Amino acid sequence: MTVDLREILISLAYIVASVLFILGIKRMGKTETATGGNLMSCIAMILAVVATFCKKTVAATWTTDWIMNGYLWCAIAIIAGGVIGIIWAKKVQMTGMPQLVALLNGFGGLASLLVAVSQGWNINHKLEAGNMVTNISVVLTVIIGAITFTGSVIAWAKLDGKISSKAVIFKGRFVISALLLIIAIAGSVLFAIDPEGLVGLIGLLAATAASLILGVAVVIPIGGGDMPVIISLLNALSGLAGAMAGFIISNTVLIVAGCLVGTSGIVLSLVMCKAMNRSIKNLLFSGFGASAAKAKGSGEHIEPKSISVDSAYMVLEAARSVVIIPGYGMAVAQAQHSVKELVNKLEANGAEVVFAIHPVAGRMPGHMNVLLAEADISYDQLKTMEEVNPLMPTFDVAMVIGANDVVNPAASSDQSSPIYGMPIINADQARNVFVLKRGAGRGFSGIENELFIRNNTSMIYGDAKATLTALAKEFNAD
Ligand code: NDP
Repeated sequence: MTVDLREILISLAYIVASVLFILGIKRMGKTETATGGNLMSCIAMILAVVATFCKKTVAATWTTDWIMNGYLWCAIAIIAGGVIGIIWAKKVQMTGMPQLVALLNGFGGLASLLVAVSQGWNINHKLEAGNMVTNISVVLTVIIGAITFTGSVIAWAKLDGKISSKAVIFKGRFVISALLLIIAIAGSVLFAIDPEGLVGLIGLLAATAASLILGVAVVIPIGGGDMPVIISLLNALSGLAGAMAGFIISNTVLIVAGCLVGTSGIVLSLVMCKAMNRSIKNLLFSGFGASAAKAKGSGEHIEPKSISVDSAYMVLEAARSVVIIPGYGMAVAQAQHSVKELVNKLEANGAEVVFAIHPVAGRMPGHMNVLLAEADISYDQLKTMEEVNPLMPTFDVAMVIGANDVVNPAASSDQSSPIYGMPIINADQARNVFVLKRGAGRGFSGIENELFIRNNTSMIYGDAKATLTALAKEFNAD
């Protein structure tokens, strides 16, 4: 028996890559270790790609006709994709990150879909043999990959404002989705039964087309407010599609990486669902966000009372305990460093300051944690919604910085509200509430916020960064 050293080294590289993927994803769970975790996963990916290129079946063709066998094209694609990725990642604003993530999920689904369709084509044209496992993997990858691709494109368009972020509810949507799913399954069965015949080919193409339309039909009725969960769900699906594609091309590291993305995406989706008090079923079938126009508060309008920076300073100067509730507006204003500056002043003045972080504040999971970590705000100061809510009546001041939906009392008091049922940070229970925002802009769900007209609330209008800097300056003048 001859020992093939190359195959042993490749298997070893795959094992190391898999371990790095697992450790990398674990380290991404905490802000302090996330950068290292990201780096580990990058190294794992490079290792996996290099090892795959060194496979015997691949390397044997290098010397013969490597251009025709596509390796030159692979190299060009990797370099071009890498350069585009670096430029894109460098250019994207923190506020544009969710759109980018949505699109990247979609590309993952598309890549798996293309692998599956080309393999199906090869089997159908007898260019490659396919067994039952491969045939089933092909059709599952087609269905999951296609739904992920078009669903993610719709999610991206909604988040990027290319189309309305409102839930688009159309009559007969359940029937249409059910029909599309039946066509996708029927087409898959035809391919699995007769992969080398015309019927099988038609089945494969029908499954692809139906799944592509199904992705649109499933995501379009979901309102903007539920996008966080949908994005993590699509992320999980892109992982599953990748794992299935790994079965098609018998690549173990792709199966491991795909399963990791799939399972962590599912865990994240469940965490987000819990945070928004929704079930996955309710999310996919209820058309959340559709009733925004009917929500209480969109009729009669009461002007909120506003105060100046000077007056707000007087209250802050006397405050012994302050809770800061950041939201999407803090990211827009890039106010995290100004927040830190004010926190330093408050603490030097003897106040205790904590941050209340809502799980869906901002526009992506962990958005606030990332920004606050960037400004060196201690991780110990960040409290979850569950930790901080029981303490809320004890705070002298709750400072709401560019947050809106996550502090909207309508979520617990108004059954007609599209965010009804979503747990919120009970800012209204603090002794004084300061809301820092630019004007009358609504939150992501597009509804009025009754917190702004409560007796203990005062608005401080202006860009959050400018307001925070002005407040910190008041302490200097003291
Ligand atoms: P919201 O989107 O509800 O509100 C943001 C507020 O910030 C607006 O009312 C706006 O008012 C204010 N604002 C904008 N720019 C500035 C600025 N420069 N200075 C001061 N204020 C500013 O944010 P929340 O964080 O409260 O809620 C997040 C929402 O996003 C939820 O509905 C969530 O479901 C959704 N979402 C969350 C995702 C996630 O993964 N976290 C992903 C996708 C959606 P004004 O214009 O008057 O200044």
